[in-house]
Amino acid sequence: MQGMMMNRPLSIISILDYAAEAHPDSGIVSVRTEGDTHRTTYRDTYKRVGKLAHALEKLGVKPGDRVATLAWNGYRHFELYYAISGMGAVCHTINPRLSAEQMIYIVGHAEDKVIFVDTTFLPILEALRDHLPADLRIVVMTDRDHLPDTKLDVLVYEDLLDGEPETYDWPDLDENTAAGLCYTSGTTGNPKGALYSHRSTVLHALMVAAVMGGALGQGVNVLPVVPLFHVNAWGLPYAGPILGINLVMPGPALDGPSVYKLMDSENVYSAWGVPTVWMGLLGEIEKQGKPPKGFGDVVIGGSAAPRTMIEAFEKMGINVNHAWGMTEMSPIGTHGVSPPAVDDLPFDKKIDVKAKQGRRVFGVDLKIVDDDGNRQPHDGKAIGELFVRGNAIVSGYYKNEEASAKAIDAEGWFGTGDVASIDPDGYLTIQDRSKDLIKSGGEWISSIDLESAALAHPGIANCAAIGVAHPKWDERPVLVAVAAGEDKPSLDEIRETMAEHFAKWQLPDDVIWVDDLPLTATGKVSKLNLRQQLSDYKHPEVA
Ligand code: AMP
Repeated sequence: MQGMMMNRPLSIISILDYAAEAHPDSGIVSVRTEGDTHRTTYRDTYKRVGKLAHALEKLGVKPGDRVATLAWNGYRHFELYYAISGMGAVCHTINPRLSAEQMIYIVGHAEDKVIFVDTTFLPILEALRDHLPADLRIVVMTDRDHLPDTKLDVLVYEDLLDGEPETYDWPDLDENTAAGLCYTSGTTGNPKGALYSHRSTVLHALMVAAVMGGALGQGVNVLPVVPLFHVNAWGLPYAGPILGINLVMPGPALDGPSVYKLMDSENVYSAWGVPTVWMGLLGEIEKQGKPPKGFGDVVIGGSAAPRTMIEAFEKMGINVNHAWGMTEMSPIGTHGVSPPAVDDLPFDKKIDVKAKQGRRVFGVDLKIVDDDGNRQPHDGKAIGELFVRGNAIVSGYYKNEEASAKAIDAEGWFGTGDVASIDPDGYLTIQDRSKDLIKSGGEWISSIDLESAALAHPGIANCAAIGVAHPKWDERPVLVAVAAGEDKPSLDEIRETMAEHFAKWQLPDDVIWVDDLPLTATGKVSKLNLRQQLSDYKHPEVA
């Protein structure tokens, strides 16, 4: 027997439509590239989003077209999230930290029609213009007075909105219509596109709202330091308007002192971001002798939150939520919201729980399997590859059959590539990555890509790129290399050879020369062994 309930398609624009009416005075505070602070409400934002949809239509954007953004966290980026998906097109967020090669690849692969760019990132487009599709339209996200000199043929964001009507006849879309596209560079080879739908995005927003709703209600100020240009800022641009919280958007200023100042002046209660950012903030808190005013809650994810960091925040009375997820999961998978019983534990025991990656959010199923695909018990001891299943998890990759076929197992679960255990209380612990990726400042660097680029130098016979713990960046790549002859090339010479394929920050910080690389039983370079050898290594600038 079927239920007798209406079947309204889930749509992203309905979130803002709701917020404009139910939380009209909550909204967005943005530090702008123009240098000032901008304030708006969800009610006014909805009107500008209507104008923007008309402007997109005039630019020739059609349902299904990909429209790219290359921008910081700010109200215009937020408007693009809603206007692009609302009219049935796909918002393709580009991570400005990608290398030129990766950026050219993804703009071509996504076949973007228009790209919206913050003034800060205009030089990136100027450098790449000749390699991007000739008919790609460029819109600079500012007004005419702040438009920098550029040799590019560009349109101006505020000019496009001028004079457009504030209401837009939003189409009734099938809820499975594509809404967002985000490429992950988490593995070797070309970046792979996670293509979110309206349905997955709205369900994910509700999942995030459900897990955070207890702490965050109407009018509470929340700072997403996690970028809108990658992993949907952990769903906050969608969960935020549902809850009626105020989003405090930091723009380009992500260093400790700037984040501290913004949090203090805007009375931010909850702040979300990767460990690197919190290291900077903790440094500033130490200098100031007190945490920013009103700060009570921090969400740490993207990389494992170091125990010392969790302790530091908790000692100040700031509640730590340790979250885990990935681009392919929209991205939240688990969340460390602790039951009151955890807060009552002795301090050390409490930190033990908080150092784990939290419990799954509603709508995400977890399983761990051994090498043969057999399910392992959730007993806190068994370790296996982590697989996930749910409504906000990819079923494959955009226009990439080969990667799609590899991503999903016979039971329909997505393989995360992480190795984990799950304890009887449901807490996930990420033990390691099955692939030896390096994560620097919250961003991935492929060790295998680094190695193949370094091997292009004739002075290197063999090498391995290892992520070595770094006090500021979580990890930095170090190259362990075997010289091809008597004359060893300098680090600068090696980096020069590799620079063609990588952004500067992705290049190794050091090269360590060895006679031979350790091998595993199957003849592969043993990175585990190398990591052990490098456990006492100090990076040149922190030694
Ligand atoms: P991304 O798709 O860039 O968000 O990267 C996802 C990957 O980051 C996951 O598969 C994990 O390897 C890693 N990751 C994310 N959050 C955590 C965490 N809290 N602890 C450890 N690793 C994490």
